[in-house]
Amino acid sequence: MKIAILGGDGFVGWPTSLHLSDQGHEVHIVDNLSRRWIDAELGVQSLTPMDSIQERTRIWKQETGNTIQFHLIDIARDYEIFKAWLAEARPDAIIHFAEQRAAPYSMKSDQHKNYTVSNNVNATHHLLNAMVELDLDAHLIHLGTMGVYGYSSVGAAIPEGYLSVDVETLNGDKAAQEILYPANPGSIYHMTKCLDQLLFQFYAKNDGLRVTDLHQGIVWGTHTQQTRRHKQLINRFDYDGDYGTVLNRFLIQAAIGYPLTVHGTGGQTRAFIHIQDSVRCIELALDNPPKKGDRVKVFNQMTETHRVRDLAELISGLTGAKVAYLPNPRKEAPENDLVVENKQFLELGLDPTTLADGLLSEVVDVAKTFAYRVDRGRVPAVSAWTKEIAEEIERDP
Ligand code: NAD
Repeated sequence: MKIAILGGDGFVGWPTSLHLSDQGHEVHIVDNLSRRWIDAELGVQSLTPMDSIQERTRIWKQETGNTIQFHLIDIARDYEIFKAWLAEARPDAIIHFAEQRAAPYSMKSDQHKNYTVSNNVNATHHLLNAMVELDLDAHLIHLGTMGVYGYSSVGAAIPEGYLSVDVETLNGDKAAQEILYPANPGSIYHMTKCLDQLLFQFYAKNDGLRVTDLHQGIVWGTHTQQTRRHKQLINRFDYDGDYGTVLNRFLIQAAIGYPLTVHGTGGQTRAFIHIQDSVRCIELALDNPPKKGDRVKVFNQMTETHRVRDLAELISGLTGAKVAYLPNPRKEAPENDLVVENKQFLELGLDPTTLADGLLSEVVDVAKTFAYRVDRGRVPAVSAWTKEIAEEIERDP
C-alpha cells in the first residue's frame, strides 16, 4: 500500500513509519517539524540524540534499501499545499499523528491554548475536507486518546467508543441505542481530541469516509525492532515536565538520582501501552479497515492500567529511587479507577509487552545510557491547569 504518515517525525510516527516500510509499504512522511520547534521554544531536547528527518531516512535506506519520502508541509496552516500533495500522491491509507499532543503544553498560557486548538482541529478538518474534495477513498487511521472518556468509569468498564443506553420511547417502551461515549476531556489538548471525534463522525456519516479512531493510552518505552537496527534510527524520548509522559519521567528521574515526583496522592489510574505494541496495533487497524458507509471504527489501544503511585513504587523498588509527593498542577480527581475494554486488538492477535517484562531494559538501555544529556531543571512539571492552582503552588511549592 501507499501510506501517508502525517506527523511521521514524532515519537509514535517515526517507529510506525519504519515498521510499515519494513513490511514493504510505500511510506510518505508529512510533517511540519513543529515538535522540533517546540523543543527549541521550551529549551529542551530528546533524551536520545535524534538526527534530522532527512538523515534518519537516509540511514533507513542504507540499512534496508527501502525509501521513505519526507514532505515538509503544515497540514493545519497550508491547506492548499496539503490538498495538492494529496491530489498527486493519492495514498491508499493515511495515518494521522499530526497534532500537538501534550496536555501540560496545551494548558501553559492562553497562546498555547489557541495554538493547540487551531493546530489540532484544523489539521483534522483539513484532512477530512480534502479527502472529500478529492474523492479520495483512503482508510484514515487517527491516533486519539483514552483521555476523551475522562476517567469516571463508576466501576463499569469503558467500552470501545460506543455506549449502549436504554431510552424510553414516547409510548413508554424501552429501546436500546448505541451512542458515542460521552466526551469528558481533562485538558485543552484532550478537548481537541473530543472535537476530532465529532468531525470523524460527521464525515463518515455525510460523505462515507472510512475512519478508524484509536483511543490510545500513555505510550512508554523507546525502541522497536526497527529503531534498534542502527543507532541513528533511535526514537525520540521526552522527559521534560510538559512532554515527558509519567512513566518516562520516572525512569529518567531514577537514572539521575532525582526523586520520583508524584502529583497529589498519586491515586490517578492511567492506561498504558508499549511503543512496540502501539506500532503493531496500527498495523492491525490497517489490515482491518471499516467498509464504506460504516460508522467510525473505534479501538481502545492500551494494554494495562496502573495507579501513578504504584508505578512510582515499582520503579523505586527496581532502582532504589526515592518518591516525593508534590502538589498536583492538574485539576482532576485525586483518586480514580479505570477499567477499559480492549478485546478487539487482543482478538486480532496483539500479544502485549507488559511493564513487568520491559521496564528494566528501558532503565538500563535508555535512561542510564543517556542520563548525561538530562537538564535537571527541565524535569519538574510546572504548567498549572488554572490560575488558582498556579497561585497555590507558588505559595506552597
Ligand atoms: P509527537 O509530538 O512526538 O509527534 C507529532 C508529530 O506531528 C510531530 O512530529 C509534529 O512535528 C507533527 N505535527 C504537529 N502538528 C502538525 C501540523 N500542523 N502539520 C504537520 N505536522 C504536524 O507526538 P506522539 O507522541 O508521536 O503522538 C502522536 C499522536 O498520538 C498524537 O496525535 C497524540 O495525540 C497521540 N497519542 C500519543 C500518546 C503518547 O503517549 N505519546 C498517547 C495517546 C495518544
